[in-house]
Amino acid sequence: MSYFLLDDYANMEPYLPGEQPEGKWIKLNANESALPPSPAVLKILNEAEYEGMGFYSDPHCHKLRQAIGEVYGFDEKNVFVGNGADEVLAFCMMSFFRKGMKIAFPDITYDFYRTYATTYNLDFTQFPLNDDFTINVDDYVDYDGDVILANPNNPTGIAISVSEIERIVKKNPERMVIIDEAYVDYGNESCIPLVRKYDNLLVVQTFSKSRNMAGARIGFAIANEDMITDMNKIKFAFNPFNMSSLAIEAGAAAARDVDYWQKCIHQVCDVRDAFEKDLKKLGFDVINTTTNFTFITHPHFSATYLFKELKKRHILVRHYDTPRINNYLRITIGSFDVMLKVLYAIK
Ligand code: PMP
Repeated sequence: MSYFLLDDYANMEPYLPGEQPEGKWIKLNANESALPPSPAVLKILNEAEYEGMGFYSDPHCHKLRQAIGEVYGFDEKNVFVGNGADEVLAFCMMSFFRKGMKIAFPDITYDFYRTYATTYNLDFTQFPLNDDFTINVDDYVDYDGDVILANPNNPTGIAISVSEIERIVKKNPERMVIIDEAYVDYGNESCIPLVRKYDNLLVVQTFSKSRNMAGARIGFAIANEDMITDMNKIKFAFNPFNMSSLAIEAGAAAARDVDYWQKCIHQVCDVRDAFEKDLKKLGFDVINTTTNFTFITHPHFSATYLFKELKKRHILVRHYDTPRINNYLRITIGSFDVMLKVLYAIK
């Protein structure tokens, strides 16, 4: 029996979060970061005189929106913030999508897009990725509805170029294009600058990956001012104080510490490149990812077998064994020492 009053939710396919085991695990299944947040964040959280807690947080989240705007060269009016990219995407769906509207995304991508599409009863199309897991951009250029793409994609880690995104955005100014850049910082070009040129583009990013703050739940969107104003109106209708004062303060401090952010990105990319080199020596086919995870398959050992063997050693990764992604592992890049342990376990 269901208590839902609306039949609209009948098709909903809720998102299944990855395993969050308790105890001592090497947790490499959710593309989180092993690095600590910026020292500036720790300072904010330690400040004894911090007054914000007793009062409601700023519903406009000015401090955080200003800090993000400064980093990307936009006014805060172009910045929306939420509890992780997930909430930002949810507010985007609530603001701009209605039953029956058309939206396209790949058949292999972040599962949440399917959750939105089924929750809102959208008329969705999932274009198959090419056999090498790349996106066929023409599918989206020629499509006559809205588009949501993770760039780089998850779980493949493959990105399309900004010029290809521009082709999709430019072809039809009537359609909305949402680009989810959760992993963009690990060696890719962001399409945020395109927001100046196109009113139908909304770019989403997160502090969960390259700013090492998944637990703080901070995500943001950059888009034209009218779109952001509309999303804020919806936010004020549903949850005006969506961001805690701690997240606003900590997020602003993290955003402003550009040097630390860049240093962490380099560190993760270096560990990733070294890890992938060693995996290749062990016979793995490594998909060329530009993210904080690696996507691999082995010709002789099944992903399920490797997943189970690693789990026995308290190392948690994601394995994919479906008709469309057959026999792949997705492993988050942890610290250098952790990745050595993983290699040793695989060996
Ligand atoms: N987009 C993609 C492509 C992701 O992989 C994830 C999380 N793994 C998210 C969005 C959600 O990020 P957040 O933690 O900011 O909600």
